[in-house]
Amino acid sequence: MAGEPQADCLFCKIAAGEVPAEVIRETETTVAFRDINPQAPTHVLVIPKAHHPDAASLAAAEPAIAADVLREAGEVAKDEKVEGTGFRIIFNTGAGAGQTVFHAHAHVLGGRGFNWPPG
Ligand code: C5P
Repeated sequence: MAGEPQADCLFCKIAAGEVPAEVIRETETTVAFRDINPQAPTHVLVIPKAHHPDAASLAAAEPAIAADVLREAGEVAKDEKVEGTGFRIIFNTGAGAGQTVFHAHAHVLGGRGFNWPPG
């Protein structure tokens, strides 16, 4: 069922505290933790606790929780002091776009310059 924890999902396990992660923020519906392989001085993932395979399906099924994820991404940027210099919120969606973990997550990247178009 949509939103239920999946036994084989790494981010469900992080959300449940069953796999360690460097958690920096937590709300009733979300967890934010540092990416294990950072691509910028600030690289934090914000995930919904509920399991949805990607951001689009999260937004379709639970728009309020999708909003929570976005709000938390903004709070991470404030906490990390990258709000003023600009930051990116990225949702890789689908393997072809680089998604490797199929539990919705926002990458919050900051603390360096960024190119456009993105790679
Ligand atoms: O968008 P994508 O699905 O590729 O992002 C998954 C992210 O999860 C990667 O940036 C990877 O470094 C991160 N990760 C992590 N902790 C793990 C496994 C993956 O932070 N234990």
